[in-house]
Amino acid sequence: MDQPSVWLEFSPLAKLTGSINLGQGFPDWAPPQFVQDAAVESVRGGHCSTYARSAGHPHLVQVLASEYSEQLNHKIDPNKEVIATVGASEALFLSITSFVKENDEVIIIEPAFDIYLGALKMAKAKVKSTSLDNELNLDWAHLESILNKNTKMLILNTPHNPSGKVFTQEELERLASILIKYPDCIVLSDEVYEHLVYDDNTHISFASLPEMFKRTITVSSAGKTFSTTGWKVGWAIGPQNLIKKLQFTQQWVVFSVSKPHQEAIANSLNEASKINYYDRLRNEYKEKRDLLFKGLKEAGLNPILPQGSFFILCDVSKISISKDNDMNDIQSWNSNGDIYCDSTTFNLHDYNFCRSLSIHHKVTAIPTSAFYLNKEDNTAWARFAFCKDEQTLLSAIENLKSI
Ligand code: PMP
Ligand code: GLN
Repeated sequence: MDQPSVWLEFSPLAKLTGSINLGQGFPDWAPPQFVQDAAVESVRGGHCSTYARSAGHPHLVQVLASEYSEQLNHKIDPNKEVIATVGASEALFLSITSFVKENDEVIIIEPAFDIYLGALKMAKAKVKSTSLDNELNLDWAHLESILNKNTKMLILNTPHNPSGKVFTQEELERLASILIKYPDCIVLSDEVYEHLVYDDNTHISFASLPEMFKRTITVSSAGKTFSTTGWKVGWAIGPQNLIKKLQFTQQWVVFSVSKPHQEAIANSLNEASKINYYDRLRNEYKEKRDLLFKGLKEAGLNPILPQGSFFILCDVSKISISKDNDMNDIQSWNSNGDIYCDSTTFNLHDYNFCRSLSIHHKVTAIPTSAFYLNKEDNTAWARFAFCKDEQTLLSAIENLKSI
């Protein structure tokens, strides 16, 4: 990989400029008490001394199988149809490297979480993209025009990072009806924000649609649901013939995942359903979304109300806050070499907007051209994360008033 990712520039830049980091999506609070307690117990309980089962700690895969059997409309076999991974990131990597070979065609829906692009590049895939428009709608005709019998995989992400779009039942059914014509196309469905859905929107797993389980790998993780992004416990669920390949690849990548953390997440999943945790989580996030949305609107940043996830996209295409010497300043401050800038982004509007926002207004956001195969295709949007405590959001809103 010849260029650094967007994360290697903007989190260090936030630190260096002392700006409020609404860039990278990690909650800035501790996991809930019952989740912390589960971890303490599992570390004390002797779960650490040996490797976990490579395909997933038995307790975790059992809990996942029972949780997802209803959601995916299929009775899931815990041993054959589930794998635990190092975050959803590893599940995505295993899925791509297990199935995509050099020159295989893969379709992504842009903007697309950048980690897909990295794995697809490593696999030497032939990537085709279709983009959401300004109203976050898919161009169905374009999608149909790029799908063909050589399409190996389509990557879906709902709720969607960075836009917060939640694909509706109607949209997913339409997608399924198109894919029926291409039975060899695997769907990699990234659903890590499955519990962060607001207002009247509902999360629907693509695999739950008729005939879709057998071709879909559903990926999720504990990171967003339990505010445990640092624990990196994720999973993939799907039919045996697909998951088996991931289980095989797993042995050659990380072999197995942290056992005490898997045990803790298994217990947390059990507990969460008993205490109505998911409704509370959604309500807390909705308040944060509404607060930041209002602040961004008042600052004139043209936010798009997200239906899910913990991100808000803003159309900053017509806002000019960049100064000529920003890039020089970053380079001169960067004596320790902590900040890595992708040299292909020096003239991109959204990158320069986000650089200036950090330097002059002390708020950090993410330029979303990083989520495109060809970054020049859309340099209009900046992404702000609201997975931050209320005081942090209020301080950021105050800083944004200086734009
Ligand atoms: N998919 C999406 C859409 C994400 O936003 C993230 C966030 N990091 C991931 C996957 C990776 O999740 P994890 O932290 O569990 O690896
Ligand atoms: N998914 C997070 C985000 O989009 C963190 C980035 C990452 O895991 N690489 O901000």
